[in-house]
Amino acid sequence: KVRLEEIKRRFNNVTAIEDISFEIPDGEFWVLVGPSGCGKSTILRTIAGLETATSGKLFIGDRLMNNIPARQRDVAMVFQNYALYPHMTVAENIAFGLQMRKVDAKLIQERVATVARSLSLEHLLDRKPKQLSGGQQQRVALGRAIAREPQVFLLDEPLSNLDAQLRDDTRAELKQLHQELGITTVYVTHDQVEAMTLADKIVVLNRGRIQQIGEPQSIYAFPANQMVATFLGNPP
Ligand code: ATP
Ligand code: MG
Repeated sequence: KVRLEEIKRRFNNVTAIEDISFEIPDGEFWVLVGPSGCGKSTILRTIAGLETATSGKLFIGDRLMNNIPARQRDVAMVFQNYALYPHMTVAENIAFGLQMRKVDAKLIQERVATVARSLSLEHLLDRKPKQLSGGQQQRVALGRAIAREPQVFLLDEPLSNLDAQLRDDTRAELKQLHQELGITTVYVTHDQVEAMTLADKIVVLNRGRIQQIGEPQSIYAFPANQMVATFLGNPP
């Protein structure tokens, strides 16, 4: 599980997030939504260990993570602006995290094959990143992050650079991959369709605070306030 208890993050005198509390059960797919600047990335970065909470507690599993550095957390994060290793092939990029962990070579090969199949990259495994389209590169970045099966998978608007068709396809593949691997996932997006189709639970944020947490249908049908209703496209 991933558990946040009254997490707050201040930058100088600006409060970016405040009173952020929720617990994601193992294997669930949660989506954070809200307008620009509402604190979505700050929450993800805090879970990843790239940001330190000013106050509050963060647990992954039963372990208090506040003072655990990012590289010691079993967490993978994918950003909008992914960076692949340019000198490595697609297969080597996907295998990288597993090799770092000294996973058995045969297992690595199997894992690369599974991930490549799920993300429609089978035919591209021998190419270098610069020989790929932007959408293909982003799929490789997703594959590389998830291949080592982290305890927690964090995605910050990973599809926002893709055109509509590619976004739909990759979204469906991500969902499929999540169903196969069952990794606890926190996904940030501006896109309501992504939120509605991917989420077990949606967390709606505004100005650094949680407005509502619930299943997509329930939030859509019973928005807690005007902001949630307007944001999810169902104003009263
Ligand atoms: P977007 O949808 O535009 O990516 P977001 O919801 O991810 O927005 P955050 O990046 O989490 O928003 O930012 C939340 C607030 O914290 C914003 O007001 C932002 O200006 C502020 N903030 C974030 N990082 C810093 C920083 N390093 N220094 C100062 N203020 C920051
Ligand atoms: Mg952001």
